[in-house]
Amino acid sequence: IKNIGVFTSGGDAPGMNAAIRAVVRTALFNEKKITAIYQGYQGMIEGNFCEMQSRSVSSIIQKGGTILKSARCLEFKTKEGRQTAFENLQKEGIDALVAIGGDGTFTGANLFSLEYGIPVVCIPGTIDNDLNGSDYTLGYDTANNTVIEAIDKIKDTAASHSRLFFVEVMGRDSGCIALNAGVASGAEAILLPEKDTAISELIDMLETAADKNKSSTIVIVAEGDKNGGAYNVEKHVKQKFDYYDTKVSILGHLQRGGSPSSFDRVLATKMGYHAVQELLKGSTRVTIGIRGNKIVTTPLEEALNKSEFKLDEDLVKIAQVMNI
Ligand code: ATP
Repeated sequence: IKNIGVFTSGGDAPGMNAAIRAVVRTALFNEKKITAIYQGYQGMIEGNFCEMQSRSVSSIIQKGGTILKSARCLEFKTKEGRQTAFENLQKEGIDALVAIGGDGTFTGANLFSLEYGIPVVCIPGTIDNDLNGSDYTLGYDTANNTVIEAIDKIKDTAASHSRLFFVEVMGRDSGCIALNAGVASGAEAILLPEKDTAISELIDMLETAADKNKSSTIVIVAEGDKNGGAYNVEKHVKQKFDYYDTKVSILGHLQRGGSPSSFDRVLATKMGYHAVQELLKGSTRVTIGIRGNKIVTTPLEEALNKSEFKLDEDLVKIAQVMNI
């Protein structure tokens, strides 16, 4: 391997910059050329490349988003698109890749490497924490901290007016943020995409909370909850239960931004370092992950097998106990 290409793709996540920095510096430490590919697979197709030096990644470890930009690129899903991408990489002399992104990014990387034989190692960068192969993905810890900060503020106003707040958090398929932030903020109920909580069940919980004279009530709704999001849940609850004045707050994209937490910065640095080491050892089509505080690799096919992803059932139970 002479020249490693690094890119970010799919949804951005805090910690991606710290990972880019680690990849660049580890490659340079090993006397390899390192080339940034801007805008993910789109940049590969357009030949948007830039050779990186150690100083190219100065003072980015604390920044959210991604300095390499990200894109969703439909053309890469076509054979012709991937052919153009490969020709551009060859022209640039890029002979290995580090891809930072979510499951779509992994799927593209796996296919591309199978088709053209280019070694690729992935780093899981998504706030959703929904990939097999790692206990934590980059950005998840920061997103949880952002969400609990927001909920703490909502609780202040909810308590002052005896209100019931429905707070919608990100997670179309994964309830990780909702569950974790719900426990960390002491929410009265948490609606998860993985669980089918009926409105009647939620109303029972709210009635119990009302009987206990709680000053405020927070219900966390993951965006992928089967009842159709926080506004729908509020509408249905309001029809049957008018004990509280109800409000809805959708946290939205602020959950994806912000300076990465210490945990995400260190994890990103470890993952970036190991991604390059794995490429140099001859690994390909694997993702870097952390399991039980150890950096591990998992074949991409396995990491992409969503059916193996499980919500923390222990924490689901604990959340219910905490609402006694
Ligand atoms: P997030 O989890 O934050 O959404 P992601 O990496 O899953 O991140 P996607 O938009 O799904 O985000 O995927 C990123 C890019 O990967 C796509 O825009 C596309 O270029 C490429 N990609 C996704 N799926 C495929 C596929 N089946 N074949 C080839 N390329 C793909």
